Amino acid sequence: MGFGIRHPLVYLRIIVILFLVIVFILFLNRQDPRTRFFSKEWINPDDDLTLFTNVTRVNAVVVVLVRNTELYQLLGAMREFEDRWNKKYNYPYVFLNELDFMEEFKNKTSALTNAKTYYGKIPENMWSYPSWINQTKAAESRQDMASRGVIYGGVESYRHMCRFNSGFFFQHELLLPFDYYWRLEPSVKFMCDIDYDPFLFMQKNKLIYGFTISLIEYEETIPTLWNAVKQFIKEYPQHIPENNLMKFISNDNGETYNLCHFWSNFEIGDLNFWRSKPYQDFFNHLDKLGGFFYERWGDAPVHSIAVGLFAQKSQVHFFNDIGYYHLPFQHCPPENEYHNNGRCHCDPKENFDMIWHSCTPKWFTI
Ligand code: GDP
Ligand code: MN
Repeated sequence: MGFGIRHPLVYLRIIVILFLVIVFILFLNRQDPRTRFFSKEWINPDDDLTLFTNVTRVNAVVVVLVRNTELYQLLGAMREFEDRWNKKYNYPYVFLNELDFMEEFKNKTSALTNAKTYYGKIPENMWSYPSWINQTKAAESRQDMASRGVIYGGVESYRHMCRFNSGFFFQHELLLPFDYYWRLEPSVKFMCDIDYDPFLFMQKNKLIYGFTISLIEYEETIPTLWNAVKQFIKEYPQHIPENNLMKFISNDNGETYNLCHFWSNFEIGDLNFWRSKPYQDFFNHLDKLGGFFYERWGDAPVHSIAVGLFAQKSQVHFFNDIGYYHLPFQHCPPENEYHNNGRCHCDPKENFDMIWHSCTPKWFTI
């Protein structure tokens, strides 16, 4: 018996059998791909029961930079924040503003919580032009960016806000006593019960930064930011650890910025990270170059790049279990377990993580 050419039907049979095997394998894996996508990746706070039962409090605070005119948008966000989480923990609030808060603002915000509330005015050096900024040039750049339709391109106060959030909030005297913060904004929504203490989770796991949404930045707001970053890396190599998160912010090992950033309207973080020497040097380097005013550098890319440069992956956490909405995007945990028991009220199909300009899928590949 030889091994000559077989009848073509034999090959056809082999192909059909292979095809059926593949279909069968796919059938076995038919579970929702989103479920598999997340379950592999994040440290799950649900697995640590002590986070749910521990009654000690972390030295932490809720930080709200806000205008008097946003009172009612803030009350809505605070109501949900309290109901979904803080009414069980009563972490204090610090409200910050470059102007004085109105009595009505103070009364209504403090009436909404049992936690302590503090109201601070931002000192002028944290909300003004540094001496080296050419204000004519800054005004011209605002006009130019506005005429090109860049989002917030013409808004002067927005630039002070971004610079304050980048370089100063953690130095404000009302925040100095604290180690961890949760940033809260007007108009945001929290769509899931949070039955544990994320601050304790951060502290226990030595995390420095937590996010819910990550995405691609508008390049026209930061045309020279990455050059500034490269300059910084050259000047301060001692601040850049080996296994940092460069892969999250650059696809070519630091040559260019891939525009990925954590959406900083939600942040749970370690204040001492921002107070550290590497970040201080980083912020001062950026501030000297003037891009907060000559361009429109946001605190989101600035914070995210710093996390990318100075932190390791094990120090950063994706809070999949926190359902969060800030116009126009939301993160809604996709797994059934968060929905079947009534823990969340968002539509799991409306989850920004699955949209092409989310960077969270990239986060999981690192
Ligand atoms: P967006 O999230 O980028 O669209 O910007 P927002 O308008 O939400 O501003 C970000 C945060 O800074 C919010 O908490 C605002 O309340 C706050 N904010 C923005 N501009 C000012 C300002 O001029 N003064 C004060 N006190 N807060 C501001
Ligand atoms: Mn906002």
